[in-house]
Amino acid sequence: MDKQPNASAKTKEVQPHPQADTQLHHICFCPNAHGALNIHPIGLTTFLLFLIIISSCNGQPSKDTLEVEAYSSYNNTSLPTNIFLTNQKTNYEKIINEAQEIIGLPNTDIEIETTNEFGAFSVINRLSQRRFFVYSPAFFDSVYSVTNTNFAIMSICFHELAHQYYRHPLKPNNASHIYEKQADTYSGYQMCLSHATLEQALLAIQNFGTEQETETHPDKASRIAAITSGYINARIKVFHDTTYREIYKTLKSNELMFALYDTKSMEEIESMSYSKDTVAAYTKKVFKKSKTKQLYTLYGELIYFTNDNKINLYTNNKVIGKILPTSNATEKMLSLDGVQFHLENNIITSVNPDGSKLEVGQKLLK
Ligand SMILES: [Zn+2]
Repeated sequence: MDKQPNASAKTKEVQPHPQADTQLHHICFCPNAHGALNIHPIGLTTFLLFLIIISSCNGQPSKDTLEVEAYSSYNNTSLPTNIFLTNQKTNYEKIINEAQEIIGLPNTDIEIETTNEFGAFSVINRLSQRRFFVYSPAFFDSVYSVTNTNFAIMSICFHELAHQYYRHPLKPNNASHIYEKQADTYSGYQMCLSHATLEQALLAIQNFGTEQETETHPDKASRIAAITSGYINARIKVFHDTTYREIYKTLKSNELMFALYDTKSMEEIESMSYSKDTVAAYTKKVFKKSKTKQLYTLYGELIYFTNDNKINLYTNNKVIGKILPTSNATEKMLSLDGVQFHLENNIITSVNPDGSKLEVGQKLLK
C-alpha cells in the first residue's frame, strides 16, 4: 500500500503520452493527436460519421495517462504520480474478469488497464475517483513463465481485488503491512474456493515476494502464512458446510486439521482462530508424518495405498477400498464402498454417471 502525495488540483487527469500509438490505442479518437489526416473523397461519408461518433465522446478524457490519487500493489513496486496506459488487450483480462465472477461481483465498475510499470496495482485516480485494476502484461508473463499456471495469475488478481473491496488505497498508509496481509488472506481464501491447491495458491508469492519486509510489504514468510491461513479458513468453512460435518471422526482426520491434530484438543481447534504460526506449520508437519508413506487426499481425508492394492485411511490404517486392475499403467481405478474414482496424473476425480469429473483428491507432494 502506498499513497501519492497530493498534487495540484489544477493538474489535468489526461496528459497524452507523447510516445503513445494513438491510432491503435486511443479509446476516444482525438484528431489533434494525429496531426494531418488524409481524407479521400470516397472516405468523406465515413469521416463525417466519425465526426458524429467523436462528438458523442467529446469531453471524455482519453486514457493515455492515469493520474494516481492512491494505490496498493502486489509487491513493493512504486508508481509515479502519472502512469502511462498502454491499452493492450491480453488474455489476462479474462482471468481478471473470472476472478471477479468467482467472488460474485461480475461487471463491477473497476476498470482494467495495462501499463509498462512492472507489477499489478489497485489504483484510485485523482479526477473521477474511479477504481482501476492496472497491470503490466510483462509482469503477468513473468509470473506465468515461472509458475506455468494461470492459478498464480489468479491469486494476484484476488489480492488486487481485495485491495479495492477493502478500499485499502483510500486508508492511511501507516498500516500497509496489515492491508497486504489482509489482501493475501483473502486471496488464499478465494483460491481455495476456486479449487486451487494450497501449493498453487502460494506459487506467485513464493516467486515474487521479497525475503525481507519493505516499507510497504511484509516479508515473504509472513505473506505465505497469511495466504495459508485464508486457504485453511475456506477449507474449514467448506468442510463445516458439508454433510460430513456431523461425523466427528471425519472432521478429526481432515487434512487441514492434521497439522494441529496432536498438539491441541478438538475443542481448542474448533474454537481457535488460526494464527499465522499455527498454519505455517501445516505443510511441514504433514510431510514429516508421511515420510514412510505416499499420501493422497480424498475428500479431505488422508489415504495411502498398500502393495496388495488396498486403500487405507492414514489416521487409523483402516482398509476403506481397493485399487481395481486396469490395463493402463498410468491410471488407476479406485473402488471405495462401491463407488469408483479415477486416479491419473496424481489427481483423483469422481466418476459421475453423466460422464463429468470432479476433482476430489490428489497426491501430496513431498
Ligand atoms: Zn498488495
